[in-house]
Amino acid sequence: MAVTAKPRLSKVTVLGAGRSGQAAAGLALARGAHEVVLTDLNTEAQRYQGPGADRVRHVFGVHDESDLTHTNLVVLSPGIPARAAPVKTAQAAGVEVVGELGFAARYLPKTQPILAITGTNGKSTVTHFLSQILASAGLKTFSGGNLGTPLSAAVGKGFQVLAVEVSSYQLELPGDFSPLAAVILNLSPDHLARHGDMAGYARAKARIFDGLRPESLAGMPHQEDLKVAAKDKPGRRVWLDDVDVDQPVLDSLCVLGAHNRWNAAVAMLLAAQVGVVPQDLSALQGLPHRLEPVLSRDQRIWINDSKATNVEAAQVGISALEGPGVVLLGGQGKGGADYGMLKSAISGRPLICFGQAGPEIHAVLGGELVATMEQAVARAQQLSVPGESVLLSPACSSFDAFDNFEQRGQIFARLVQELS
Ligand code: ADP
Repeated sequence: MAVTAKPRLSKVTVLGAGRSGQAAAGLALARGAHEVVLTDLNTEAQRYQGPGADRVRHVFGVHDESDLTHTNLVVLSPGIPARAAPVKTAQAAGVEVVGELGFAARYLPKTQPILAITGTNGKSTVTHFLSQILASAGLKTFSGGNLGTPLSAAVGKGFQVLAVEVSSYQLELPGDFSPLAAVILNLSPDHLARHGDMAGYARAKARIFDGLRPESLAGMPHQEDLKVAAKDKPGRRVWLDDVDVDQPVLDSLCVLGAHNRWNAAVAMLLAAQVGVVPQDLSALQGLPHRLEPVLSRDQRIWINDSKATNVEAAQVGISALEGPGVVLLGGQGKGGADYGMLKSAISGRPLICFGQAGPEIHAVLGGELVATMEQAVARAQQLSVPGESVLLSPACSSFDAFDNFEQRGQIFARLVQELS
């Protein structure tokens, strides 16, 4: 790992004024930067309002070339690709450009080890499981990164250990990000517009290993693109396909789904790197909108898996149903989605299709067709019998009728509560 000297922070330019950019600006100010330029192409971007705001200059609507070429450091928000023009401009002028994650990492001492998690699916869940395991062992634990609180906001807070979810975008310029241990959970086609192809996506993910020591845990699945991308990376390779999901302690887990058993096993593997070995997982909770039981009434369990916004995630969610049940599918379809893939997971259970993609799903998988999620919930109440589950695992995005998957999940929970 190249050790970069911490540059004198007289001027720092932060590209992108979203959550990560705001946190990076706050960190730069806390570290004594005389001037922070927070710049975003969006004229409506949020101004920095935290401590030291009088030292921040906002440049919204354009990036001023002089702020890229005459500055000590450029910190890049994950929403902006590393190949974007302003990054090139800064680099051509010899200015160091680092991603927000790497910027934060250079201020975290080795006594505050980072356990890092990336992958296409399951990142947030594993991070959440891990942080609960660490916290219940009495450690002051940070949980965040890609989801929730940006890593820059963790600096100087005295955390004993950090469970950090990392996205492929954040790994384009990882800088000094050097976890104690890191895992790539899985890799399936996603974000290819940004990374070019699977090989490029795998290369971004594999950068999570760049800062590891040779003996550090570097967990990944047997996946060809990843194997190629990680070939010369440091770290002790552990194949996550071989993680032991038969450990007795996993029987105490109450969260639904075989994939969550595996997620918990991976979280345990990471926790073990800081000497934490849980004896009981019964208190472990899943995240909202991911196979979340929202109501148990009349011997029916209503489950919200609104986060399953694509066919792959719905397949995982539906497969987690153990007994009979009713499945709700629909929303805004994603072009080329192969709903037929869900047939074996649905396995003859009653199906209700709704929303914009409802007719298309109905044409492929049959079942019943209604217009709205509200009608789907009412119909599920009629179709289900005591002892069954009703699962919303929509396989579609939510934007046909909702702001986002969270709102869809909240409205599902409300509709279910309101059923007479
Ligand atoms: P991410 O943060 O990577 O988006 P989440 O933990 O939020 O992942 O889970 C998103 C969806 O991915 C879940 O609703 C579930 O359907 C699926 N999922 C979770 N864990 C796994 C896993 N280990 N393998 C495959 N799919 C998974």
